[in-house]
Amino acid sequence: MNQLSIPEFPDLQIGTLFCIGRNYARHIEEMKSERTDEPVVFLKPRSSVIFNNGKVLLPEKTNDVHHEVELVLLIGKHTHKVSPDVALDSVKAVAVGLDLTARDIQARAKQKGLPWTLSKGFHTFAPVGNFAELRDNFDIQNLDLWVKVNGETRQHGNTSMMLFTSAEIISFLSQHFILNPGDIIFTGTPEGVSRVKAGDTIEAGLGDHISSLKVYVQS
Ligand code: MG
Repeated sequence: MNQLSIPEFPDLQIGTLFCIGRNYARHIEEMKSERTDEPVVFLKPRSSVIFNNGKVLLPEKTNDVHHEVELVLLIGKHTHKVSPDVALDSVKAVAVGLDLTARDIQARAKQKGLPWTLSKGFHTFAPVGNFAELRDNFDIQNLDLWVKVNGETRQHGNTSMMLFTSAEIISFLSQHFILNPGDIIFTGTPEGVSRVKAGDTIEAGLGDHISSLKVYVQS
């Protein structure tokens, strides 16, 4: 298994990382951002993925790295121009993930109207927990998600609060791009984002022990 294989599905290589921003109303409020009519889309390099027990490396260029806990979808089939009513057929598995963000770099980019890529794509900035196969009894739009830093709860939300559902996100992405097996989608974060520092242990979870994640922050 090489570094880009998915531990639970070793035959699948991680592909493109699609990320959705501004998908929970209270997070939009805490960021003083505005709601959008369509999902806000950005990408991360696939080399930013790390798995359970991995190390988050804080870059020198930032003093303000934030956790954003998110539902992560693993795409299992070629998907192009699908409607929302069939879009979940493309999901092979789900996981909890962290869209780590250098908030200071992102704020400077936002001010200038520039892309967020540099703030979001650092090496180790996309930790994902174990992927759990999507089963019929999952209600993907009613899953708790939470993150703790050094045992203290920082974010606790539910996917029912998403402004664009998983199906709507996949349908939207598939109108613009072709999704392929191994692609993963970060679906946005609820409120409560906060800074992490070297020495912190970050734990995150999805649903009733569906997926869990533990990573260690280092300078
Ligand atoms: Mg995010």
